[in-house]
Amino acid sequence: ALKKSLGQNFLTDAHVIGKIIRAAELDGETGVIEIGPGIGALTERLAESAGGVVAVELDDRLVPILREQFQGKSRVSIVHGDAMKVDYRRLIGEHLSGLAKYAVVANLPYYITSPILMRLLEERLPLTHIVVMIQKEVAERLRAKPGTKDYGSLTVAVQYFAEVSWVATVPRHVFVPRPNVDSAVVRLSVRPEPAVHVRDEALFFRVVRAAFNQRRKTLSNALSTLLSDGINKEALNRWLEEAGIDPRRRGETLSLEEFARLADGLVAHVGTER
Ligand code: SAM
Repeated sequence: ALKKSLGQNFLTDAHVIGKIIRAAELDGETGVIEIGPGIGALTERLAESAGGVVAVELDDRLVPILREQFQGKSRVSIVHGDAMKVDYRRLIGEHLSGLAKYAVVANLPYYITSPILMRLLEERLPLTHIVVMIQKEVAERLRAKPGTKDYGSLTVAVQYFAEVSWVATVPRHVFVPRPNVDSAVVRLSVRPEPAVHVRDEALFFRVVRAAFNQRRKTLSNALSTLLSDGINKEALNRWLEEAGIDPRRRGETLSLEEFARLADGLVAHVGTER
C-alpha cells in the first residue's frame, strides 16, 4: 500500500521524466542528490547521465527494493533517511566526493516543499542548481513578480538565493496515484552571490516577513512591530522616504532591491528579535 502521508505520487510518464533530466543538464562531473526516489523511475535516468547519485528515501519499505534495483551500480547510493534531517554536506562528502559540481533533482514529496527548498538554499550547500517537481501553485509563488497575489516571503527568499525558471507544467494524470493538484517542474539556478547585497541578512528576512505577515496593511503599519521601543512611526516614515519608498505602499509591492534598501536603512533602529 502507498503511504499517502509521505506524498507518494509516482511519476510514470517517460516524457515528463525526460524534461526533468534535460533541465538538470547533467554530465559525468555532476553529482546529484535525489530526494524521495520512490520506486526509482527518475533515479534510473539520473544514474545514466550523472557522475553519481545519492537518493534519500524515508519509506523503509521502499529502501530495500531500491537497493536491490541499483545493486552493483557503484555510482548510485540509496540512503534511508528524512530529507528534512539529513546532513547534506556529509552526504556529498560520503557519496559524491571528487565531482566538480552538485545538483538536487527530485519529484518532491509536496508536504515538505517550502521547508526543504529553504533548507537547501539557506545552508549554502555547494549546489549549482535545483530542479524539482512541485505543486503548480507553489511554483507560481516561486517565480511571482512584486504586486501579484502569488508574491510573498517565499518568493523573496527563493529569488534572493536563486534564479527561478519554469521548465514545464505537468498535469495530475501522469502520476500514480493521481494527486489532487497539477504540478510544475522548476529550475532554481543558485546565484554565486545573493540577488541583492544587504548589511544584515537576518534583518532583511525579518523585514520581509513583517511586510507579508500583514498583507493588507501599509508598510508603515506592518513594520512598526519591528521597531525598538521608543521609536515612533514618524521616524519610520522618514526612513522609508529616505529609502525612496512611499510608506503608504503595501509590503507585497516591494521588489527585492527595495526590501534590501529598506532593511539597510533600518539596521540601527529595530528591536531585537521577539
Ligand atoms: N521520485 C519518485 C517519482 O518521481 O516517481 C517518487 C516521488 S514521490 C512524489 C515522493 C517520495 O518521497 C516518496 O517516495 C516518499 O516516500 C518520499 N518521501 C516522503 N517524505 C520524505 C522525506 N521526509 N524524506 C525523504 N523522502 C521522503
